[in-house]
Amino acid sequence: LLGCLAVTGAEASADEEIRQPAARGDHIESLLRQMTLEEKVGQLTQAAGGRSKNLNSKLTAEELDRVRAGRVGSYLHVAGAEPLRELQRVAVEESRLKIPLLFAMDVVHGYRTIFPVPLAITASWDPEQWETTARISAREAASSGLHWTFAPMVDITRDPRWGRVVEGSGEDPYLGSIMAAAQVRGYQGEDLAAADTVMAATKHFGAYGAPTGGRDYGSADISERSLHETYLPPFHAAMTAGTGSYMTAFNDIAGRPTTANADLVNGTLRSKWGFDGMIVSDWNAIAELMNHGIATTRSEAGALAISAGVDMDMMSLVYADDLPAAVASNPVLLQHLDNAVRNVLKAKQKLGLFDDPFIYHDTAKEAAMLRAQDHIDAARRVAVRSIVMLKNDNAILPLAGTKKRIAVIGSLATDRQSQLGSWRARGDKAEVISLLDGIKAGAGKGAVVNHAAGIDADNPDALKGAVALANDSDIVILVTGEDYDLSGEARSRSDISLPRDQQRLADAILAVDKPVIVALAGGRPLAVPGLAEKADAILMTWFLGNQAGPALADVIFGKAAPGGKLPISFPRATGQVPYSYGEYPSGRPADPDPAKDTNRYSDLPITPLYPFGHGLSYGDIELSNLELGSPTMDGSTPIEISATLTNNGKLAGDETVQLYLRDRHSTIAQPQKILRGFRRLSLKPQEKKTVSFTPTSDQLAFFGPDGKWRSEAGMFDVMVGSSAETIVLTGAFELTETVESKVPA
Ligand code: BGC
Repeated sequence: LLGCLAVTGAEASADEEIRQPAARGDHIESLLRQMTLEEKVGQLTQAAGGRSKNLNSKLTAEELDRVRAGRVGSYLHVAGAEPLRELQRVAVEESRLKIPLLFAMDVVHGYRTIFPVPLAITASWDPEQWETTARISAREAASSGLHWTFAPMVDITRDPRWGRVVEGSGEDPYLGSIMAAAQVRGYQGEDLAAADTVMAATKHFGAYGAPTGGRDYGSADISERSLHETYLPPFHAAMTAGTGSYMTAFNDIAGRPTTANADLVNGTLRSKWGFDGMIVSDWNAIAELMNHGIATTRSEAGALAISAGVDMDMMSLVYADDLPAAVASNPVLLQHLDNAVRNVLKAKQKLGLFDDPFIYHDTAKEAAMLRAQDHIDAARRVAVRSIVMLKNDNAILPLAGTKKRIAVIGSLATDRQSQLGSWRARGDKAEVISLLDGIKAGAGKGAVVNHAAGIDADNPDALKGAVALANDSDIVILVTGEDYDLSGEARSRSDISLPRDQQRLADAILAVDKPVIVALAGGRPLAVPGLAEKADAILMTWFLGNQAGPALADVIFGKAAPGGKLPISFPRATGQVPYSYGEYPSGRPADPDPAKDTNRYSDLPITPLYPFGHGLSYGDIELSNLELGSPTMDGSTPIEISATLTNNGKLAGDETVQLYLRDRHSTIAQPQKILRGFRRLSLKPQEKKTVSFTPTSDQLAFFGPDGKWRSEAGMFDVMVGSSAETIVLTGAFELTETVESKVPA
């Protein structure tokens, strides 16, 4: 559209000159020269619209005046092709410099079509599922006027008390890095300027997932080594995949809030890693620097954030209202300010907004795109692949023979809202197929499916009714766990076992003498030793999105084999957390004889209830034949490690082969195992497949006390298995030289 307004030669008015040079490299510099200080801080200001549905009511004359005056550069929590068109029109036609606005939202696991929660998608151990989810989310969001999503959330955590564990990829930096990159690729596609891609904001840089005690927003008092080896790698992987932006974390690392940490933001992220995109603060985090106690005034807070390298101020209005005063008293800040404006304008340029911002405002396209049939189909496929079968005694699953009385028990079986999980963008619970409805539709004609909630605040007999129904049935599907509101932002728990009413129900149902299949809902690992002991089968179903019911039915009735694996360990009790597989070896290692084992709790085994990487399938898949391409490797050639999978069972099944390595001796202690490769494969009965991995010497590196990454020459143990605790094949090779590497592995 703007192209049509182009006027050439001497007739061009000042206004048109401002708009036209979009294609020219110097456009941004020319804008910068023309901008007043107020317009500059305006570009760095992100304001909130109404929470999506009421956006129209927010388009007040006052808001439009703000846009006209160039006092805002971006909006978050807005959506809708049509309402946003008007905001954008005012920006590019009526503001002095005609700079387009940037529209953002938390599109985290779907926009209108809602996919499983992030932790669940990562449980697929299949980056393609993430890429598909992000691609479809981008298509829907961009058709609805959005340019930018606050995703991927790549915070590693080893503390499942933390409520935001649901939003990330779990405990492992390698798995997290692969999933981070897949999301960036999915959101941004090949071309950020295309009308169906959105810019990713990788968040929350750098160790938001390590708050003390698992309490949200808490301080992360972690070592430099764990920062670099555990928490930062997924952020780096997102950069390699081309993330257009980052969001800094709310919290501090050892007393240094990231939003003001110049060493980490300008130092590590921009200078060392070479990131040249845009950085946004988290919500009100710049003003919160005063609560952290490192700024006494708003203008001091603004000066700290802009000097650290934070370009855009989400919602605190510190840059808009208080940065000009800071610049007046310290002109050096102007350089930081100009750089920040440059980064914001460059992002707008990369998104094509200076060329034609209205490609994002096609209402017919929006209508066709939201919940398109192929999006819904994909949501079902992703949900199937997210389910993790924790237990399946006597191969009770899949349920064969449909002429059965099936009791579906639990309030979560009909809870549509919960399936949307945390961050549901414009998802609508009316568009969720509940677990109960999915089971009813999937059970087949001969089956009778009845439901009892078992938990009902207004009906004290609800539990009795559920027990009676269980007694009266051939098989029970118990849907229990957490509801969606127990995980997510500001939703940490001190006890990660089942909520009390759910535990009572589970105890009562498991005491009935019927086979019980548990569908376990939740946004975090749950400590459920009772279920693990007594249930016949357990499917971890997380929160599965719009197609929750059909996906669960596909697995229960054998239309699809489960094959998800845990992306984070499930502890036996909350007292075991924080926890992760592959700790550094102790000088007094675990002893198989509990009486001699001092490196343990006196009241609990040291191992988790279900380990990282655990998950069963149908079929009977065996791992064999570990082969190493060579007994040695040097710094320049990867080593080839391969193994064979054979399905000896009668059903098709999936296995995710996991490669763990251990640096046997080194100048500093190394984890007892570290994931360095994985591949999920589907095998038909009697099928055989070979899988191979090619780790490079960079992947053997650790972050040394001197702040350098290096892999030390010596022996490395190779462990191949189906979980971190189920190592089936072992071998070893030698790295023949010490290699300095430049970047995180
Ligand atoms: C969250 C971010 C989110 C932002 C905007 C904050 O409270 O920490 O993850 O992107 O709000 O909604």
